[in-house]
Amino acid sequence: MSQCYLLLGTNIGDKKQNLLQARESIIERIGEIINPSAIYQTSAWGKEDQDDFLNQVLAVETTLNPERLLAMCLDIEKDLGRVRFEHWGERLIDIDILYYEDQVITSQRLTLPHPEIQNRKFTLVPLVELAPNYIHPKLNQTNKDLLAHCTDPLEVVKID
Ligand code: ADP
Ligand code: MG
Repeated sequence: MSQCYLLLGTNIGDKKQNLLQARESIIERIGEIINPSAIYQTSAWGKEDQDDFLNQVLAVETTLNPERLLAMCLDIEKDLGRVRFEHWGERLIDIDILYYEDQVITSQRLTLPHPEIQNRKFTLVPLVELAPNYIHPKLNQTNKDLLAHCTDPLEVVKID
């Protein structure tokens, strides 16, 4: 069994429902959700003419290796009706792998840890809720320290 951290993001349709459906698919096809963060709201990153995002981080236990895990995340995105309009464009659900154990991977298909963790408050805030003292295996800083040094100006608000 391996532990990974997944980031869910959604900014169209019934966003809470999109997150719920993604969690159900993850339980069915990836593994047990050990710990879900709260749901956080953020204004759209990189494109301010879009609707706000909801994000949630999940600690998940899986028997899938990183490549198979990525393939499954992309399958779930597709099955939940993701429409790709443009880069950073709107989508029903986006599922990113933040960490997979302490693995460091750089391949054409997969980068681990996810290369943007340290740059995005909407990733770091829920991650710090779950694992403040987890050490980023490439940057050698805790999630808490990464958040303290993150200069992303977008506000991240916990919702019910
Ligand atoms: P983004 O998540 O940056 O908005 P996409 O969801 O469209 O962009 O992902 C584009 C590609 O990023 C995926 O097809 C996948 O091959 C690649 N990728 C590389 N590393 C990761 C990772 N850690 N998690 C998810 N996707 C990744
Ligand atoms: Mg993605």
